[in-house]
Amino acid sequence: MPSDAVADYAARPGRHIVSLSGGKDSTALAIFLRDHIPQLEYVFCDTQKELPETYEYLDMLEAFLAKPIVRLNAARGFDHWLDMHAGMLPNQRVRWCTAHLKIQPFEAFVGDDPVWSYIGIRADEQRSGYISTKRTITPVYPFKEFGIDRAGVMTLLEQSGIGLPTYYEWRQRSGCTFCFFQRSIEWVGLLERHPDLFEESKRYEEQNGGNGFYWRQKERLSDLQDPKRIMEIKQHHEQRMKRERDNSANKTLIELQELALDAENDENGCNICHL
Ligand code: SF4
Repeated sequence: MPSDAVADYAARPGRHIVSLSGGKDSTALAIFLRDHIPQLEYVFCDTQKELPETYEYLDMLEAFLAKPIVRLNAARGFDHWLDMHAGMLPNQRVRWCTAHLKIQPFEAFVGDDPVWSYIGIRADEQRSGYISTKRTITPVYPFKEFGIDRAGVMTLLEQSGIGLPTYYEWRQRSGCTFCFFQRSIEWVGLLERHPDLFEESKRYEEQNGGNGFYWRQKERLSDLQDPKRIMEIKQHHEQRMKRERDNSANKTLIELQELALDAENDENGCNICHL
């Protein structure tokens, strides 16, 4: 671990902030930086529609960090902004959710202070994450700087005892229960693990979706929950898992799961919510 070089971060004047998403990479980043930047602040922009597993994971991380994770949006979660948008649900093209629930609360939290914003993009990823338009916010990519890839992230999580969020058993990305970036099998996972949250997602779709709007774009949630459709989705997922297993002998189950999910839809998801 290049501890001296990481400690150099702390000497930079300004605030130092890790914005947590409830995902594995931003969590591993907080763990990586914790002992090197004493003034480090942790923040979580809560949409108020996160998975119960995410809240549990953040509580566990908070205990490990021995410092509070500041939770933003206490008074203005997803439902508030849905009202402000006259009930129009967000989608991949019109992502008001990210702007109102992630970017703006973070920018309001830091104000005009000079900020080093640490971002958990790994060395093995091509994306750059969200870069604020505020000139006072400077993005920092420690995992890229120090060559920490997926395996390095897993080591950090294991050695800290924090591990992966439990939703990883059925879903790869953090974020809202009904996030429109979910893959078919993840929706099935939501239905089976959290039927109440699946019903809530369905209610949003039925009451606010309007003509032809579905979270999944190509099908209604009420169609997806048909037992025949569930069987079909599971079979396709198993086939993708098998293909990945055949192609890559030494992968763990979690890695195979990730590859199979990416094979269904390899979009990177949201650069802010899914870290
Ligand atoms: S997780 Fe998905 S639905 Fe929630 S704020 Fe992010 S992009 Fe929007």
